Amino acid sequence: MSFTSEIKDELVRIQNEQSCCDMAQLCGFICFAGSVGYSGETPYLKITTESDAAAKSFETLMKKVFGIKDELVKSQNSSGRGGFLYNYVLDTVGKVHQVLDALGLFDDEFSEHITFKINQNLVKKQCCKRAFIRGAFLGGGSAANPEKSYHLEFVTHHHALSGGLTEVFAYFDIDAKTVKRQSNYVIYFKNSDDIFDVMSVMGAHKKMMEFANVRIVKDKRNNINRKVNCETANLDKTLNAAFVQKEAIKKIKEAGKFEMLPKHLAEVANMRLEHPDASLNALAELLGTKISRSAINHRFKKIIQIAEEITEKNNE
Ligand SMILES: [Zn+2]
Repeated sequence: MSFTSEIKDELVRIQNEQSCCDMAQLCGFICFAGSVGYSGETPYLKITTESDAAAKSFETLMKKVFGIKDELVKSQNSSGRGGFLYNYVLDTVGKVHQVLDALGLFDDEFSEHITFKINQNLVKKQCCKRAFIRGAFLGGGSAANPEKSYHLEFVTHHHALSGGLTEVFAYFDIDAKTVKRQSNYVIYFKNSDDIFDVMSVMGAHKKMMEFANVRIVKDKRNNINRKVNCETANLDKTLNAAFVQKEAIKKIKEAGKFEMLPKHLAEVANMRLEHPDASLNALAELLGTKISRSAINHRFKKIIQIAEEITEKNNE
């Protein structure tokens, strides 16, 4: 089962404590899973969902909130993704008006094209804001498996609806982003903190904890990778530096000038040749005397400088 389905399964099990929330949740669902069609002049309501759990909860709430049961015509076909697509049509005129009225879509003159928006009366209370988001997720939401990526989104055709949902999230201090994808508006979250908050607001607490655990494991893994990368980079640096030092010593030897090096430079040069890959700290330890890493570094700089002078002379 997908992460999305698992969240939806959890959401439909939540029992709203108040009837106001039943209404808000149902309207959130209809806004994001519904559309209004016309047969002649008469509007009808169509609902489509791939979620088995959401379909069942929709039927339950339609009966509980609007007393609509038999008027709701159900059909199902293959979703083409291994599951079903559940379709509902409500075309009993009085009932359609009842639902659209509750959605607050009769504010304006009953126009030919109804665009969904959020009826502010439905989401006045905090409990109802949560319920509305829950319904919206059941109707048009999805979330990626956090193992793969952090992404949660709501999809709608209606611009006003995307703006309205963003405002509801803003109430909870959650910053929603919106992008247009073909004819859809996608309200999305990519930040793991935001996704966590959205799940919390909706009430998907079980999946929220699972999400948090995955995040902890992922963060740990990333930290280890970062550390390994960092150590590898340091090792590369050590080996590169050692290579440059060896080349310099080679050059001095080839020029027959090695015997002329001061004792303290010859000492580190010999140590480098005996321990080609050792870090400066390791060389400092090997030398045993009270010599610091930076003093050794300084001596190698001097050796490299002498080698460079030889090269310059050769090139003259
Ligand atoms: Zn409420």
